[in-house]
Amino acid sequence: MTDTVATNTAVLILLGPPGAGKGTQARMLEEKFGLVQLSTGDLLRAAVAAGTPAGLAAKSVMEAGGLVSDEIVLQILQDRMAEPDTAKGVILDGFPRTAGQAEALDGLLAGQGLGVTAAISLKVDDEAMIKRVSGRYTCGGCGEGYHDEFKLPAVAGTCDKCGGTEFKRRADDNAETARARLEAYHAQTAPLIAHYGQLGVLEEVDAMGSIEDIASGLGSIVQKVSA
Ligand code: AMP
Repeated sequence: MTDTVATNTAVLILLGPPGAGKGTQARMLEEKFGLVQLSTGDLLRAAVAAGTPAGLAAKSVMEAGGLVSDEIVLQILQDRMAEPDTAKGVILDGFPRTAGQAEALDGLLAGQGLGVTAAISLKVDDEAMIKRVSGRYTCGGCGEGYHDEFKLPAVAGTCDKCGGTEFKRRADDNAETARARLEAYHAQTAPLIAHYGQLGVLEEVDAMGSIEDIASGLGSIVQKVSA
């Protein structure tokens, strides 16, 4: 984090297990409120694809569904936060995931006269999450999300949004890895809910409903905390 971050920067955190809809909801909030989605998962996948030293170190951990070291994650997060577009405010999607990351974030923000505006916990059911994660895929062209069971394209093999015909599945979106990721969430990330409760910035949303209903609940929270 650098002095390019404005003092009125909103810092929103989305907390929730894999499959809770953090990425989908973060993209919707980004469009609606002009905030910047910052996904450490996306940043790590880009580092893996680029073959950087951080990416090489992270690859096998991600494939096993474990957590990448705080050191690597904090470095890529700080590098991204140093880019000027984050001055509009950020939605942290998938970060922090450990007590160490949460403390580091609190310290970095405090150094800028900032704090976490809201940490929004997406409440979901574990077994439903495994099902959601195991069947999901995205359009290779525009990133629109689909699911083998819950959301098929209207015309088989063609993206509803951009007409693309190439689709991608994340290497870690299978039932076995999803279970490991869920375990990592319960062991290391869920305790952060209490941390943000103590800071007085915790908000909770039922994330088992439709994408639109969840988006509307989140939108109300963002409006409330930014007022
Ligand atoms: P995600 O796209 O958020 O589901 O993250 C995919 C994978 O990237 C996770 O299963 C972890 O291996 C790694 N990862 C993403 N964010 C973090 C983080 N904040 N701390 C540690 N590992 C992370």
